[in-house]
Amino acid sequence: MAILVTGGAGYIGSHTVVELQNAGYDVVVVDNLSNASEESLKRVEKITGKPAAFYKADILDREALEEIFTKEKIETVIHFAGLKAVGESVEKPWEYYNNNITGTLTLVDVMRKHNVKNIIFSSSATVYGTPKQVPVTEDAPKGECTNPYGWTKSMLEQILTDIQKADNEWNVILLRYFNPIGAHKSGSIGENPNGIPNNLMPYITQVAVGKLKELGVFGDDYPTPDGTCIRDYIHVLDLASGHVKALKKIEEKAGLCIYNLGTGIGYSVLDVIHNFEEATGVKVPYSIKPRRAGDIPENYSNAEKAYRELGWKAQYGIKEMCEDSWRWQSKNPEGYGK
Ligand code: NAD
Ligand code: UDP
Repeated sequence: MAILVTGGAGYIGSHTVVELQNAGYDVVVVDNLSNASEESLKRVEKITGKPAAFYKADILDREALEEIFTKEKIETVIHFAGLKAVGESVEKPWEYYNNNITGTLTLVDVMRKHNVKNIIFSSSATVYGTPKQVPVTEDAPKGECTNPYGWTKSMLEQILTDIQKADNEWNVILLRYFNPIGAHKSGSIGENPNGIPNNLMPYITQVAVGKLKELGVFGDDYPTPDGTCIRDYIHVLDLASGHVKALKKIEEKAGLCIYNLGTGIGYSVLDVIHNFEEATGVKVPYSIKPRRAGDIPENYSNAEKAYRELGWKAQYGIKEMCEDSWRWQSKNPEGYGK
């Protein structure tokens, strides 16, 4: 039996494939390569010494999925495939709703036809909207999202919850990621954004490597100790190992479960810059810019439920996240491109 990883050539997916193969699972990857390169999977194979079966296919393509589910013996799906750029989702809401929601509905329909009823879904801390209090626990009410990307996550959580409720043969685990950064220790796989990065850490590493001139810090007048926003950054390797733990839980018939995957510690934008400079010895020039629309001042997790129920907790601190992001960027200034 194998684990189907949708979006497995992407940033979190490729790191999770490594952890799954290291834990002894057979892995099948489906990715349309809209935001990834097949090179990542070649590098995964170099790390683990094992090939993952790869299908270049779109989760909107029912026939392609039918073929994969007929050919491979899939037990559980880890579903990463999706579009994730917040700003782009505001410009192209139809594309986001279609890709993320119709794509997932198609996937789930093919799954049930093949009697595969185990799914681990990549959700996000964004579903909390602006949390009333931090650290945020899983039973905090979901909130208003500020963009279509966030709504796709919130709606898909609801859709998968209702499907599980109607048919308790389904096991659904919703994993709410906080802010994944870092890269594999080898420095051979990592985050490879298209064009100018939207997220903080890839922006920092591209400034550090000389591809971008300076970092803009979006706002220093928030009600936080240094005025910049606070987030819960988590090493992508910890996130990947969280999926292996979730898989064990699914094997015990999980029903419906929701877990935060975060460290429980919040860092401000300036904290991240200073930690990066300290960990790498590389200066990151920055200037203060106006606030970015839709940003919330503070969000970090209470990660105790995942520890209690999955025996999972983050191992890596901010220093290693910075070192590992930098190792990947400095060894691969053009990402997988060159
Ligand atoms: P990513 O873009 O690197 O990976 C997503 C992968 O899905 C890409 O390889 C892309 O080519 C593929 N894909 C997209 N649409 C597809 C489709 N229709 N059919 C087949 N493949 C398709 O992103 P990531 O950072 O690895 O994120 C993985 C998942 O985790 C996403 O669902 C994302 O929304 C979610 N998530 C990410 C973050 C983050 O900050 N990176 C935070 C919370 C949640
Ligand atoms: N941020 C910033 N400059 C950048 C990118 C991000 O100051 O070029 C800030 C952003 O305003 C937020 C934090 O860094 O406070 C994390 O942003 P990111 O987009 O990485 O994650 P998210 O906002 O989705 O939590």
